[in-house]
Amino acid sequence: MRTEEQSWAKRRVVLKISGDGFTQPGERGIVMNAIIQLAEQIARASQNTQIAIVIGGGNILRGTQFTAASRGIREATAHYMGMLATVINGLALQDALEGLGCETRLMTAIRMEGVAEPYIRRRAWRHLEKGRIVLLGAGTGRPFVTTDTAAAQWALELEAQVVLKATRVDGVFSDDPERNPHAVLFSFLTYEDYLSKNLGVLDREAVTKCMQYGMPIRVFNFRREGNLERALAGEKIGTLIAGSPPLA
Ligand code: UDP
Repeated sequence: MRTEEQSWAKRRVVLKISGDGFTQPGERGIVMNAIIQLAEQIARASQNTQIAIVIGGGNILRGTQFTAASRGIREATAHYMGMLATVINGLALQDALEGLGCETRLMTAIRMEGVAEPYIRRRAWRHLEKGRIVLLGAGTGRPFVTTDTAAAQWALELEAQVVLKATRVDGVFSDDPERNPHAVLFSFLTYEDYLSKNLGVLDREAVTKCMQYGMPIRVFNFRREGNLERALAGEKIGTLIAGSPPLA
């Protein structure tokens, strides 16, 4: 069983940033100021932590926007379009990080050598050991899942201590906090609790995969000042989803 407290030479995390992080509240597309704010926090935290970032794409396109009933575009095609959206975000974040002096590598699960390296586990591992921030684009490379599942998959492959899921709410709530002001924030949930309560912050496939291999997930609000750095540093903010509660 992995725990978030495990102390290796350097902490290694997989950070999932949803498409919301690449734009401003209520907007779509790319807003470079929002990306630079993320990059500044990531750059500071990267001194002490090995960081692999799984990039979302919902600010541009999600495959589920195109259902079987949509005319002209097949659902699988739409999912591939969503994966390409994550690469667009990844390129923007890469430039923002490099503008701050960080060394980065963008790796993609769909080969596109003109813009990024193909994802090869051992190579990603090596980049992390060398202190490079690894940006993971194109999700898992397969349609009909989301980048949450990619985050779970890459965290397991790269033997990260935790999946950090950056969202626009404070963690996992009993109900949608943007609609129900009485929704209660959980500080800890077992994987089973999360799945049985049908909670909606992460996709079930990702949580099931983490449950199977004991990979902890921390969900937190990246829009609160300093939270991204705090999560990267291992502070207990937001909600932890794991097999057992954290040590006091
Ligand atoms: N996607 C996919 N396979 C993957 C990852 C992503 O098909 O392994 C597609 C899917 O359509 C998804 C879109 O890419 O909706 C953008 O990713 P996601 O919805 O996870 O972005 P986020 O919600 O994090 O912004």
